Amino acid sequence: MEITPRQYVAYMELVAETIGGQGEYITALDAATGDGDHWLNINIGYQKLMEQAETLQQLPNFKELFTKLARLIMSGMGGTSGALYGSMYLAAAKAVGEVTVLEEALLAEVLSAWAKAVMDRGNARPGQKTMVDALLPAAEAYAAALAEGADSQSALAQMAAAAAKGAEATRDMEASLGRASNQPGKGVGHLDPGAVTMAMQLQCLATYLGDVEE
Ligand code: ADP
Ligand code: MG
Repeated sequence: MEITPRQYVAYMELVAETIGGQGEYITALDAATGDGDHWLNINIGYQKLMEQAETLQQLPNFKELFTKLARLIMSGMGGTSGALYGSMYLAAAKAVGEVTVLEEALLAEVLSAWAKAVMDRGNARPGQKTMVDALLPAAEAYAAALAEGADSQSALAQMAAAAAKGAEATRDMEASLGRASNQPGKGVGHLDPGAVTMAMQLQCLATYLGDVEE
């Protein structure tokens, strides 16, 4: 597996479509545990990115692409999500440097940089009912699969499965961060919207990269 900035933007188009079709579901999740704007924040953010798709596709390396994505996300995506996703892409830009293609080992670096960035910026740990609960297990599962010699397809599938499982596990968690932590029931019994959208994006990544010619 090897992808260029152009292909990365194609992956983001898949996310924009996927998230775009989940408005009612995700809004209901955030209405139950937060303020109901999570889908709007993420969806508007991706729409703004897609307006710049042509420019983004032509960026020569991943440092420039991820830096530009961070800027667009910080200005275009609202809420806590905008700040956290912006930090994720800044960290990813630093982690990969001026490479022109991403392959398995670098993707592992990106996933790990994303997880660390959200935890640093959000002052978050796993188990607090946030997007970290989908992202960190996904990053760890991908790295572990590669270390065990799994092929690209299988490592991606394990990554996406860990994200989905992690998102599902937020249902029983008590929130100790974010808006759900201010609710009387601390969100217990409800999925965390940020973990669900994170898992959706990571599933798109696995689907898109799984279709790229080896
Ligand atoms: P807001 O909370 O500002 O309304 P969103 O609705 O866009 O922002 O995003 C809410 C999601 O952000 C939550 O579901 C949770 O996954 C995540 N989140 C909130 N606070 C934090 C934090 N401090 N660290 C990590 N993730 C967080
Ligand atoms: Mg919200």
